Amino acid sequence: MIARRPLLLAGLAACSRRAAPLDVQWLGPDPARGHRLREAVPSGPAAQRRTDVLVLGAGVAGLSAARALQAAGRKVTVLELDDAPGGNSRAGQVGDLPCPLGAHYLPQPGAHLPELQDLLVEFGAASRRFGRWQAHEAFTVHSPAERRFDGARWQPGLLPAAADAKALAQHRLFAQAVSSAQGLGFSLPSYRAPWSAAHQALETQTFSRWLDAQGLTEPGLRWYLDYCCRDDYGAGSHSVSAWAGLHYFASRHGFHAPGEEEDAPALPPLTWPQGNGWLVQRLAAPLGERILAGRVGLQLDEEREGLRLRCWGPEGLEDWQAQHVVLAVPLFVAQRLWRNPPSALGQVKLQRAPWLVANLRLDGPPLSRVGAPLAWDNVIQASPTLGYVNAQHQGLDPRPGPQVWTLYWALPPQERARLQSAPAAEWATRVLGTLTPTHPDLLEHVQQMRLTRWGHAMAVPTPGAKSQPALTALRNLRGRVSIAHADLAAYSVFEEAYYAGLNAAGSLIRAPAR
Ligand SMILES: Cc1cc2nc3c(=O)[nH]c(=O)nc-3n(C[C@H](O)[C@H](O)[C@H](O)COP(=O)(O)OP(=O)(O)OC[C@H]3O[C@@H](n4cnc5c(N)ncnc54)[C@H](O)[C@@H]3O)c2cc1C
Repeated sequence: MIARRPLLLAGLAACSRRAAPLDVQWLGPDPARGHRLREAVPSGPAAQRRTDVLVLGAGVAGLSAARALQAAGRKVTVLELDDAPGGNSRAGQVGDLPCPLGAHYLPQPGAHLPELQDLLVEFGAASRRFGRWQAHEAFTVHSPAERRFDGARWQPGLLPAAADAKALAQHRLFAQAVSSAQGLGFSLPSYRAPWSAAHQALETQTFSRWLDAQGLTEPGLRWYLDYCCRDDYGAGSHSVSAWAGLHYFASRHGFHAPGEEEDAPALPPLTWPQGNGWLVQRLAAPLGERILAGRVGLQLDEEREGLRLRCWGPEGLEDWQAQHVVLAVPLFVAQRLWRNPPSALGQVKLQRAPWLVANLRLDGPPLSRVGAPLAWDNVIQASPTLGYVNAQHQGLDPRPGPQVWTLYWALPPQERARLQSAPAAEWATRVLGTLTPTHPDLLEHVQQMRLTRWGHAMAVPTPGAKSQPALTALRNLRGRVSIAHADLAAYSVFEEAYYAGLNAAGSLIRAPAR
């Protein structure tokens, strides 16, 4: 974790009626650790370590694999680059308040995700009564869930209202398209869903091109659909495939034209003050000291008597001998560290989106411009960011008190270098610049800001990405090395990562002993 000397934004403080300068720090994985992989692997002596199954990476996929392997009686060791497990779903804290450093919600899983339903029951986030699965209401997003600033006022909900009958007809047309897609088969995890010529046709074009071809050009609808793509995939409708654009709706909650939500009300997602870090903490708990943090995997070699993984640890080089290795790291990391990998690994091509997450601790709620009250998810339509989530939204205390706003910003790839090189103060200024037009007294309330950089956060499902045969080959590796990561789905959500872990563990557990 990086916790550098606080940067005090004195300039900003001077422009407002702030009593004290703003304390800004980076928080989360140190990019310098991951960038060790760019250097030549050191050849010096290393401490010797041994385990049965080595899992590299303690993100959702790595933890899910390790947990399943441990439950099956295997001796597992998990090595993680960061100082805490969780990867993109890590929990954090600003002052005394918990917050997410990345992922913050999980849609309620349907009956086609029984393993995930079971996990949530085990964690006490849901129950099963008379065979019926139900999420615990303490963890489902309370009302008001969403609001959108349209330039003049806050409006309830994210989908702009259809201005006239023509616009409403377009919303209905898109709802029909999503419903037809559901008939074709779109579900989670995506590798268990059918794949037909119709899916392939959607996969070869961008979502925006497909929308144009359907005549779906209504600006409010198009803004909303683009926003959803940026929010889930880190890139807009001009970049992601039509398969991805439809999958967002068809695999989860569908799409309902305004006024038709009552026919099939969407189930609110699950969320926690520390975001999906709540889930990660529970996935990690049974592994306890089997998770070794602060270790950067550098090189994996397959040798006659087993596997050897060289890594940087807190006290220098370590060589880990194992019978099996689960690479639960992004595929571009696996490509760098696995010597002589199967050809499929070298063939995979995925674009990645950089993200910035800013957690702002406020001493109380700032004034809002007119309109809908503060919601869980608050989106400013004209902003390049995805808006902010109020981490304390689920709290039951009605008195206004300190709160953390988590702002999400999916950046274009050309901003990656700036994310790495620009000082935290510069990003803090940019973050505040996106919020203060809507919250003019914000600077009087912000006490601390913690910034998290995700330089290569997630795979973007561009046309052709999902259907790469190499991804199928990597999901089905049957040797001593398995891969578990959301990248295998060509995009990143909790469900895909969790199932990638279960899948990798399952193939190891079923494999005949050597
Ligand atoms: C900002 C942001 C917001 C998101 N919001 C949501 C959300 O609300 N809901 C949702 O479902 N999904 C969300 N996601 C997607 C999220 O990526 C997935 O939910 C999930 O966390 C992915 O898990 P993973 O295990 O596949 O990958 P990762 O999180 O990438 O895990 C890989 C792990 O490997 C470690 N690692 C990498 N290299 C090495 C190395 N050389 N040696 C050792 N360890 C290494 C990493 O530190 C990391 O812990 C979000 C992602 C981001 C970036």
